[in-house]
Amino acid sequence: MTNLLHPLQALRDGDWFKLICGASFQNLPAIRSLTLSYALAGADCVDVAADPAVIFAVHEALQVVGRFADEARSRGFRPGSPWLMVSLNDGEDPHFRKAEFDPALCPASCLRPCEAICPAQAIAFNPRGFSGVIDSRCYGCGRCLPICPVHIIGTRSHCLTPAAIVPLVLTGVDAVEIHTQVGRLQDFTTLWRAIAPQVPQLKLIAISCPDGEGLIDYLRALYELISPLPCALVWQTDGRPMSGDIGDGATRAAVKLGQKVLAADLPGYVQLAGGTNSHTVDKLRRQGLLRESGGKKAIAELPTAAMPELYCLPC
Ligand code: SF4
Ligand code: SF4
Repeated sequence: MTNLLHPLQALRDGDWFKLICGASFQNLPAIRSLTLSYALAGADCVDVAADPAVIFAVHEALQVVGRFADEARSRGFRPGSPWLMVSLNDGEDPHFRKAEFDPALCPASCLRPCEAICPAQAIAFNPRGFSGVIDSRCYGCGRCLPICPVHIIGTRSHCLTPAAIVPLVLTGVDAVEIHTQVGRLQDFTTLWRAIAPQVPQLKLIAISCPDGEGLIDYLRALYELISPLPCALVWQTDGRPMSGDIGDGATRAAVKLGQKVLAADLPGYVQLAGGTNSHTVDKLRRQGLLRESGGKKAIAELPTAAMPELYCLPC
């Protein structure tokens, strides 16, 4: 299914282009069509929830792209062979949660601001059908939480057990992204021990971490634990986790954290994550942080800024 050189070459060249569907997003039709569109557009990686149904949907879409690759090229597309990445977590994390509430508790006078603010159309009110949060569509962004006037929207977190992770990693997955936070070395170690026997089958490990006191020492400790690695390594710098913010401020946080990790000179590639938006590439370019600028230390990614608005899921 996959072409080993293409995504790896993109990392080396600094134009790694990843579709992030969201660690909790399970809307299969949307994931299928996003995968189809982004694979046709030449994406190097499709990053999805560690859910067998989601993984199956991505495989299906990639098979369609493979079947029509020649025709797509003749029509001016540049179809890629993206790696399939699943996201795992070593503890509580906003990427791994779902909103929930009991619609019976909603006052009749409420104008339903939760429904309007949800970017994934995951909140429904249907007098003859389902009302509440549509679980498969919710990706845990949290925008609905503060807007509820009677504070009835809560969240529930999820974390796969090591026993559930292993068969997933064995099922046609090319890459794993591990979400962690500073200070969780013990939890990370437990997760790593569970997946370590499968790592030789992977093409890439990504470690996603927000900033925190002692970040670089923490990342060094992780590197000590996981090395030597038989595959590529990406440090995903989560400057503004789950922000979905289109403003310049979010990009500043994303770029600043990327610079901090680049300056630490850890082995591996650096990819910006939370806080990226349509300003990010320009900012990286102005600061000489793209490979095209000739800088030795460069960010290895182009953010997925071209995603359709509805599915522009913040990472
Ligand atoms: S606003 Fe975000 S957290 Fe709330 S239901 Fe929609 S996707 Fe889920
Ligand atoms: S904002 Fe709160 S009270 Fe209003 S409809 Fe949404 S969940 Fe119910």
